[in-house]
Amino acid sequence: MSYDLLIRNGTVIDGTGSPQYRADVAVAGGRIVQIGKISDGAKREIDASDLIVAPGFVDPHTHYDAQIDWDALVSCSSWHGVTSVVMGNCGVGIAPCRPEQREALAWDLVNVEGMSFNVLSKGVRWEWQSFPEFMVAGRQGMGINLGFLMPLSPFRSYVMGEEAQERAATADETTRIAALLREGMKAGALGFSTTVATQHVGYRGRPLACRLASREELGAYARVLRELGYGAIEVNLGGAGSSILPQGSPELIDFLLSESRRPVTWLSVQTRSDQPTAHRELLSNTDALIKRGGIPQASCQPTEIQFNLRNPFLFGPYEVCHQLFNRPIEEQARIYADPNFREAFREAYTRVPKAFSGQWQRIEVCKVKNSRHQSWLGKNITELSKQQSKDPLDTFFDLALADDLGTEFAMAVLNFDPGLLQEVITDPRVLIGLSDGGAHVDMLCNTGYPTYLLGTWVRERKVMSWERAVQRLTSEPAQLFGLTDRGVIAQGKAADLVIFDPRTVAAGDKEMIYDLPGGEGRFVQRAEGIQWVIVNGSVLFAEGKHSGTLPGQVLRGGGR
Ligand SMILES: [Zn+2]
Repeated sequence: MSYDLLIRNGTVIDGTGSPQYRADVAVAGGRIVQIGKISDGAKREIDASDLIVAPGFVDPHTHYDAQIDWDALVSCSSWHGVTSVVMGNCGVGIAPCRPEQREALAWDLVNVEGMSFNVLSKGVRWEWQSFPEFMVAGRQGMGINLGFLMPLSPFRSYVMGEEAQERAATADETTRIAALLREGMKAGALGFSTTVATQHVGYRGRPLACRLASREELGAYARVLRELGYGAIEVNLGGAGSSILPQGSPELIDFLLSESRRPVTWLSVQTRSDQPTAHRELLSNTDALIKRGGIPQASCQPTEIQFNLRNPFLFGPYEVCHQLFNRPIEEQARIYADPNFREAFREAYTRVPKAFSGQWQRIEVCKVKNSRHQSWLGKNITELSKQQSKDPLDTFFDLALADDLGTEFAMAVLNFDPGLLQEVITDPRVLIGLSDGGAHVDMLCNTGYPTYLLGTWVRERKVMSWERAVQRLTSEPAQLFGLTDRGVIAQGKAADLVIFDPRTVAAGDKEMIYDLPGGEGRFVQRAEGIQWVIVNGSVLFAEGKHSGTLPGQVLRGGGR
């Protein structure tokens, strides 16, 4: 027989955690049809000698709900070998939606996920009202597979209007919201998501609608999954990096587990060097919940924010810095140069350390405006201040002033101590995820976590086997969301495959590119060593180049 695609001589890592083996993999009709020594021919052959053939990666935590309207390749995830993404996390999204609610839902994404209102106005097509309509609207012709969680905020707003941001639903409204969720599940949604994080402020500065859902409501929604017997719940609890969950959160997870009898994945386990045992304590404090199916998510890479002093959003918590916002560059420069400002700023962040805390060794120069300053690149402020025999705070501002405030700094916010992070990512209780793909794109890009796990943790640091890392990136997230057809290489499964070079696979450089609707910028991260990406049996990327095909599908929960 002749196959559609034959991958020859690869080292197969099948996603289950089993040891690697040499085999050919044959694909026909979008499925893996044979594995072993294959002598028949195929329409297309790939020589995978010296390469690893793995299931395509499954990213469990993204916010591509809007981006899929303008970016068929769902970048940067697909560049890194991700063949399926789960969207609609954290209770925020753009469906269901009545026409008059579009602006409010877009502002929710601006406030919670750091998207640009201008980009959303230009890019989102709004070709739906109901959630099932959202799932099919123009979703043919995507590069990779899309999994849909139903974010609770738009469901509440759809039924309750603006009062969704003011109060709990009545019994009648609860029944109607639950019916919409049931309809979404039957159309293939993977479950629903919500947040209780107090920093999640929605349209017009009021709480994001899902935060006001009562226990009665959440119980009714969870019982939809119980009744159907499939699906998962995702909850953002806020309070990242502490040793205990925010108040009421353990009870909430316990309640959702009992009512749904389905997995509940929650955010998040993070490591911080100022509280080096917090992640360990959090995991032991929540052990009983984890055993019952309450799965914490963790990141496998440092969370790094990139910024320059023209846009001082990191200094937002400090009153003394408010004079810097939206000012001409000369005025900003004058303020940054003022010794009184510097002292007031030092006093402010020392008193209340927030995201910006004056930990200078964590702030590194990653781009300079004027090429004269090349020698600063890759150095942190502590190093540079020693070189210049100057106070670090003065060094920081003086560098930027000498470079017309164009210097780009990268600051590690969480998970920057490899020793601590190693404990988390090797802990079988956590699910690796948190890429947040599609969100906060003007500040960070964490969508390259699969290549980071493989390149940094497996090849360089040798803390995990290739087999275990692939399992963490494939079958673990696929199982959580009931994607029984994905995440493993086995006969009969969907042919989502990534072929990578174990000698070179790595998360590459991050850079700002200006390709968003309206020409706005976003951070992207390049992938190294990802040779071939195959989605539903079709080659999406051949040696890193898009083949022109768009073989992605809408994923359906419940094993269908
Ligand atoms: Zn999220």
